[in-house]
Amino acid sequence: MKKVAICPGSFDPITFGHLDIIQRGAKIFDEVHVVVLNNSAKNSLFSAEERIELIREVTSQMPNVKVDSFQGLTVDYAKKVSAIAIIRGLRAVSDFEYEMQGTSMNRLLNDQVETFFIMTKNKYSFLSSSIVKEAAKYGGDISKLVPQVVEEALHKKFK
Ligand code: ADP
Repeated sequence: MKKVAICPGSFDPITFGHLDIIQRGAKIFDEVHVVVLNNSAKNSLFSAEERIELIREVTSQMPNVKVDSFQGLTVDYAKKVSAIAIIRGLRAVSDFEYEMQGTSMNRLLNDQVETFFIMTKNKYSFLSSSIVKEAAKYGGDISKLVPQVVEEALHKKFK
């Protein structure tokens, strides 16, 4: 049976840190669904459609990666696509507590889905969508942090 994993997140916007996790996950699982969680509590810069479009563009060379958006519980999306795993990235110790909470909750809601953590590459350990947005807003060079299409989209937003 096909081993499907989901990679949920805000991706506002996708960075090289996200991409690295997706790429590495796609080597382990037969199919990876990148899911833009449309969480209304978060104020996002890019609409869900824009975020999806950017992810589609930068993963277009990865045949076993699919992109979608979802409003609701991560475990419900996992069930919908018959995923056996949730992939999350870990950067610093500061990520741990948040991830521990999310993983425990997800396990409570559905203990059939495992959460897998992929440790970030050192060079991306400080990288987040927020820091990229902050740098882009004030004209900083973000070319080493995000793919070119994302850089262009950010510049357009802040023009
Ligand atoms: P969320 O709001 O769900 O945390 P994010 O878009 O911030 O959404 O992150 C989605 C996933 O990508 C999370 O598992 C996060 O830890 C991971 N991630 C984000 N930035 C990096 C990075 N630089 N290196 C590795 N993983 C990352």
